[in-house]
Amino acid sequence: MKITRVETFAVPPRWLMCRIETDDGLVGWGEPVVEGRADTVRTAVHELADQFLIGADPLRIEDHWQLMTKGSFYRGGPVLSSAVAGLDQALWDIAGKAYGAPVHQLLGGPVRERARAYCWVGGDEPSEIRDQVAAQVEAGFTAVKMNGSGRMARLPNVADLNEVASRAEAAREALGPSGDFAVDFHGRFSAAGAIKAVQVLEPYAPMFVEEPVLPEYTHLIGRVVDATTLPIATGERLFSRTEALPALQAGIAILQPDLSHAGGISESRRIASLAETYDVAIAPHCPLGPLALAASLQLAFCTPNFLIQEQSIGIHYNTGAELLDYVADPEVFRFHDGHLLRPTAAGLGVEIDEKAVRRADGTAESWHNPVWRHADGSFAEW
Ligand SMILES: [Mg+2]
Repeated sequence: MKITRVETFAVPPRWLMCRIETDDGLVGWGEPVVEGRADTVRTAVHELADQFLIGADPLRIEDHWQLMTKGSFYRGGPVLSSAVAGLDQALWDIAGKAYGAPVHQLLGGPVRERARAYCWVGGDEPSEIRDQVAAQVEAGFTAVKMNGSGRMARLPNVADLNEVASRAEAAREALGPSGDFAVDFHGRFSAAGAIKAVQVLEPYAPMFVEEPVLPEYTHLIGRVVDATTLPIATGERLFSRTEALPALQAGIAILQPDLSHAGGISESRRIASLAETYDVAIAPHCPLGPLALAASLQLAFCTPNFLIQEQSIGIHYNTGAELLDYVADPEVFRFHDGHLLRPTAAGLGVEIDEKAVRRADGTAESWHNPVWRHADGSFAEW
């Protein structure tokens, strides 16, 4: 079997899909994207495919991964790692279809029958948080995630800290003692600011606090870990084992590799194994589309230290299209008491509605994250 063609599709709301075709007629799908840089990644996907994949045997996944990540002198970073990630997912999809098994079966078989998932609540005010959490509990979810704050000074003052606490209080009230909420700081605080903010969250016992510092300050994350009783999470902007290692060594509790950024299923599986040696659970980042979620689930079902899965259905970023718009069998992504069931179809376990993808290609307005400024006009972290 040989790879004959690699195509990419830029689709709303902000996603990129790739499709690998073989001379056997088998087709694999993946999702290589950096949010806000879809066109750049698209170029990288075609460069890598032309250089390493066209004409090659798709079943030599590890060898392809080695060449795609190391076969050029300049390597790594979000764009290249995400391009590799989507191609890697598509190669695993083909392998599963060739062997007639879901990918998690090829990776050692299932270790669980359902995967817990959380959804986002995006309200800016505590009253909205309370209502949105209550709605998700009503829908069966047992866990939600929210931003810890809006735009914030690097060092929060008392009013800022009260705002952080009041959102957490509202979420805890709506969830009761048995539900979970996670708080994402998005690197908006400095390390010193994050220590103040994480401490005011302690009475509300969030499941974890995410990105208390920016990924470039991973050398400081241990200070936050040591200053709080709460579990600290990071990882959506770390793209390999070697980038995850310092965060693990600093004592984080939860690692959040993104299957569409961190080298795909191949590397994310190794990141999960590395995390296991630090007694760290993984909670894969996934504000993306159906293939990123399907790839994440394949990892969830064969990974002992999996904790919970992020997913984007209803997320505030999804304008113009939703995850289920591109799926021929939405049943795969139906939630049962806040959990997704183990997919049994071959490959990634999701059937893409190819007509819908081709129709949507090129119709996405280019998405960029907001650029924020502080009151004095200087740049503010989003
Ligand atoms: Mg995050």
